[in-house]
This record gives sequence, structure tokens and C-alpha cells, in this order.
Amino acid sequence: MSDPDLIEIQNRLQRLEALLESGRVLNSTLDLPTLLDLIVNSAREMTDSEASSILLLDSKSGELYFEAASGSGEAIKRVVVPLDSSAAGWVCRSGEPLIIDNANQDTRFYREADAQSLFTTRSILAVPLKVQDKVIGCVEAVNKKGGVAFSAEDVEILSTLAGQAAVAIQNARLFEQSDQIAEMVHELRTPLTGIVAYSELLLRPNLKPEIVTQSAATIHTEARRLAQFINDFLDLARLESGRARITRAPVDVPRLVDEVVQLMLPQTAKSGLRLTASVPGELPAIKGDSERLKQIMINLVSNAIKYNRKGGQVTISVGVAGDRLRVQIIDTGKGIPAEALPNLFKKFYRVPDSEGWAQGTGLGLSIVKHILLRHDAHLVVESELGQGSTFRCVFPPARAVYSTSATAAGKPRMS
Ligand code: ADP
Repeated sequence: MSDPDLIEIQNRLQRLEALLESGRVLNSTLDLPTLLDLIVNSAREMTDSEASSILLLDSKSGELYFEAASGSGEAIKRVVVPLDSSAAGWVCRSGEPLIIDNANQDTRFYREADAQSLFTTRSILAVPLKVQDKVIGCVEAVNKKGGVAFSAEDVEILSTLAGQAAVAIQNARLFEQSDQIAEMVHELRTPLTGIVAYSELLLRPNLKPEIVTQSAATIHTEARRLAQFINDFLDLARLESGRARITRAPVDVPRLVDEVVQLMLPQTAKSGLRLTASVPGELPAIKGDSERLKQIMINLVSNAIKYNRKGGQVTISVGVAGDRLRVQIIDTGKGIPAEALPNLFKKFYRVPDSEGWAQGTGLGLSIVKHILLRHDAHLVVESELGQGSTFRCVFPPARAVYSTSATAAGKPRMS
């Protein structure tokens, strides 16, 4: 056997070993973000590419968006790409792999992705992620190193990896779902246990009046907590599925802020806090669902109260950022640790020490996120431990026309 043949066999063996190893690694985690990172890193290494990414199809909205990336920066994440003029869209629709040797000259390349990530795409290899013949997204390898083109062998390798990856993604999604059901049952069980225990106590004869009062008060608190949880849970389910109707009409922001202040003043006073609001005279007009926007503000102000310190301050500050309306809820509370920020908008998530501060369900910020998404608005959180937090919502001007499926700026960023 000649030397080149031997080298070729060795190379093939190496690639096979790498694929076997990646299969083992992908099966080692059920955490979806970790899994997606492992997939993009493997895709990049195995195809010897500068960058790689995973795009997933949202089964409810039909949108195709970047979910994970390696080598092209974080900015690309959550950017939505059009199905009819992108390589990923082509692959998702056809269910076939695609090689683009010269991205600049190919109409299937979505240029906006480069503009968003400040990356330069030259060549692309994209393969579908399929679960039982259903395409759930695709994996892309970008810019083969050494100035060469992607080969048939690269297609074979990436397709095999995508096969393993699709099964692992499906498993992680199923696990996430069952995890959420477990969380929900847990949240229901805690107040129910209190209600059952105290109502049993109330059934005993000859109780002291103060025991009766205290038990009734606990039952009342726990029942309200249960009702709040169920309301939030159903509201979030409606928002997630797109069933919640969001109206769009001009919003009277000063009036809205005034209503929120009036509503929240008793709660702030009871907690020994000060609540102030500042609203300038001139504001960019926005369109939206006033009741839903009020719900956002109440949620954020409630949190600013719950996680504040005694004698602290809550400020609602309305202002302008360029041509956009900016609404900030600022508190002087416990702050949020940096490592918790990426989880803040996840269903049921609570910063571990939260229960010591206040009761909660971990659903409020998920609801806020969904309502803001439906308004094409975005939310940024800044926080310093022990100093306080700022939740900043920025709304697009009323005249701007947005189509969420093809917005150049992609989905609003929740960070
Ligand atoms: P909860 O019902 O627990 O308040 P949210 O979804 O509203 O649920 O908030 C999620 C978690 O984020 C809270 O449990 C808390 O740990 C943290 N959090 C939210 N807002 C603040 C804030 N203003 N200051 C500090 N931590 C906050």
C-alpha cells in the first residue's frame, strides 16, 4: 500500500474515532445549552472550519433562529433568519445538505447574519437536524480553513454528527419538559401541604381563638399563593403558545406610570420603602397593549419591592434612548449575582437565596419577557450585588414597522 493511501486510511480512522467520541460526549449531558455548545464545537473541529452554528425551527412561530454558535461571537444568537433567503432556510425546507463555496455570490446566503455578528462568511456547509424525518433545524460549518472548499467527506461527517445531535437535542428537550412538570408539581405541593395541615388543625375541638386566627391566616396566604401561581402559569402558557391576544394602540405612558404608582404605593409604604417616578414631558409615541404594559411594570416594581432592603428606594424612570422610549425600574436592593443573570428569564428560576427575601414563583420575569417580545421591545438588566438592580425596557417607536419573522435586528435581546 502506498504512503498516501496509508495516510488517507489513518485520517479516516481518526475522523471515525472523533465521531464515536462526539456521540459519547453528546450523550453525556441533558442540559440543552451545554449540549448545543458541544455540538457546535465538534462541528467546527471535525470539518476544520473557522466557525459553526446551530439554527433551530420554532415549532410554534415557524421562525428559524440562531441558537448556538462557535467562532463567530455571541451577537448572532437569537437572530432570526428568513426561511426563503438563507442557506439554513433552504436546508430546513429541502431536508438536504447544502454547500455554498462563495457566499458573496449566492442568493441563499443571508447577509444580515454577518452584519449582526461582524463576521465575514466565505463558504458554508449546512446539514439538516432531523428527528424521525422531521427537520428541527440545521447545523452550519462556516469558512473551511486553508482556503479550500468543503468536500463530500465533510458533508458525510457533519451529517453523521447532526444525526447524533438531533437525537440528543430531542432527549434534552423532553427532559426539560419533564423537569418543568416536576417543578410545577413542587410549586403546587408546597402551599397545598400548608393548607391541608392547617385545615386539619382547625378541625380539632376546643382550639384557642389565637390558633384559629393564625391557622385561618396561613390558609388564606397559602391559598392566595396557589391562586397566584395558577394564574401566572396559565398566563405564561397562553403567551408561550401565542394564544394570548396583544392589542396595539397608542399608549398613554404618563397615565400608565401614574396608575402603577398609585397601585403600588401602599405596598412600598408597608415595606418601608420610597417609590418615585420621573416622566419627561416629551416622549416618543409607542403602540402596544396598555394593560399588558401595566402588568410588566407592576411585575418589575413588585420585584423591586420584594428584593429591596429596609428604608430603600424604588424608582420608575421614563426617558428617551435615541428615538426610543426607555422605561427603567431601579431599586436599591440585594442585587443579582452575575452568574444568575443568564437564568433570570427562565421559567421557575429563582436566585437561590430568594426564598429568604420573599415568596415567589419564578414565573414573573418569564411573563415580562414574553410580553416585551410581543411588543418588539427589549429588556436589559444591570445589577450590582448589595447595591441594587436596574431593569431597562426599550420600546420601538410607534412609526416603525416590524415583522418579527424577518426583523433585521433579530429577536429582542433578554440579558
Ligand atoms: P419571583 O416570583 O421569584 O419573584 P421572577 O420571575 O419575578 O420570580 O424573578 C425571578 C428571580 O429573579 C427572583 O426569584 C429573584 O431571585 C430575582 N429577581 C428578580 N427581580 C429582582 C430584583 N429587582 N432584585 C433582585 N433579584 C431579583
